[in-house]
Amino acid sequence: MKNSTILNHPTFCVLPFVHLYQSPGNIVSGCCISHPGKTVESGELEAKINAPHMKSLRKRLLAGEMPNVCKSCWNIESAGHLSPRRSFNEEWIKNWREDIEYALPRTDPTTGHIHNFVMRYADVRFNNVCNFKCRTCSSNFSSLWVAENKKHNTPDWIGGGEVGLGTEEQQEQTLQSILDNITTIRKMYFAGGEPLVQEKNYTILQALIDNKRFDCHLMFSTNGSVTKFKDYDLIDMLSKFKKVTFSVSLDDIEQRAEYIRHGTNWDEQLKNLQKFSVLSRQSNFEYVLSATISAFNFMSFPDAVYKLYEQGAIIKGTALGLTMVQEPAWLSARVLPEDKKLEKCKDWDRLAVFCRQNNISLTNEEIQRCVTWATRANTYEDYIMKFQEHTRYIDNIRDENFSSVFPELEYMT
Ligand code: SF4
Repeated sequence: MKNSTILNHPTFCVLPFVHLYQSPGNIVSGCCISHPGKTVESGELEAKINAPHMKSLRKRLLAGEMPNVCKSCWNIESAGHLSPRRSFNEEWIKNWREDIEYALPRTDPTTGHIHNFVMRYADVRFNNVCNFKCRTCSSNFSSLWVAENKKHNTPDWIGGGEVGLGTEEQQEQTLQSILDNITTIRKMYFAGGEPLVQEKNYTILQALIDNKRFDCHLMFSTNGSVTKFKDYDLIDMLSKFKKVTFSVSLDDIEQRAEYIRHGTNWDEQLKNLQKFSVLSRQSNFEYVLSATISAFNFMSFPDAVYKLYEQGAIIKGTALGLTMVQEPAWLSARVLPEDKKLEKCKDWDRLAVFCRQNNISLTNEEIQRCVTWATRANTYEDYIMKFQEHTRYIDNIRDENFSSVFPELEYMT
């Protein structure tokens, strides 16, 4: 298939042909936004890549269908925006067309089976080991949540319930499959849990260094609390790579950061953020601050950005990204009272101006998306009791106090 044909093909997506996506529990899917994935019992790469649901995905994409598992992309495209599907297609066509030319003839369009798969991109979350237990996270992505839930018999609706993580043997096999492809991989995404407290990720990094694969694009989704682990010095290890994208999750500052993302030590966190800002002056290091906007920080986030800028935790050129909490509904910003949210819209407008003036990459469009999400529905009456019950339950376990950390949200208590 010629480049232009691929790009114009209404449903082609390069990822299922070059990529391994796996979340904790050996759950495999087309990519991180292709849902739901399915558990593959075997840790072998071949079993994952040619699992029945992966073959079906490739077959249907090639047949011009729009599989439901990819509805995130179809929704983005139908709203007129650039979807990950189109973005990855363009990236591969532009840079690594030969990967597509290799994979397509090796894929049987009648079954979706791909022969002699070569891994070019891996996004593997080995397990949920994490040093934080953020309020807006859950046991699926944090081992500290699991321990807390077990100890306190936390109800499922707050974050209890079983998590399947797969066996150590499966995780070792997954690691081996990446190491086996270390010479061909072009992009490596590290996420967790917290990827920087998981030794397997350092094993991969070390293998890339040993094989002088400094051309491999490294991407991290991290809470930003760790730059040294055991004998590994992360900053030193990253220094030779030509492209590193470091996305740090941070929702607020000081005491509020410590409350929302339990495990945060603000003084240490600030020093790390300042370090990442300095690194981002180098051309190989892209620093993204990724905020999860919830009922806790919708009112305070604009002020937090000004303070971060004052303190050098973000600088000109830093990219900011916003993700809205949708579930559980009682932690979404929609639960805040309508009049309070509307009052805050001006602050978000001012933030847009500030970012533009200071070359901070957070577009007005993204801010408007966030504000529209929060204000389009008002669920205070529906969910305030749940918000209070949830918050008090966790406060009680963690010996924290919502009212003292968020005095401006007193009306929520
Ligand atoms: S079409 Fe979208 S959701 Fe499906 S695998 Fe590609 S990038 Fe993922």
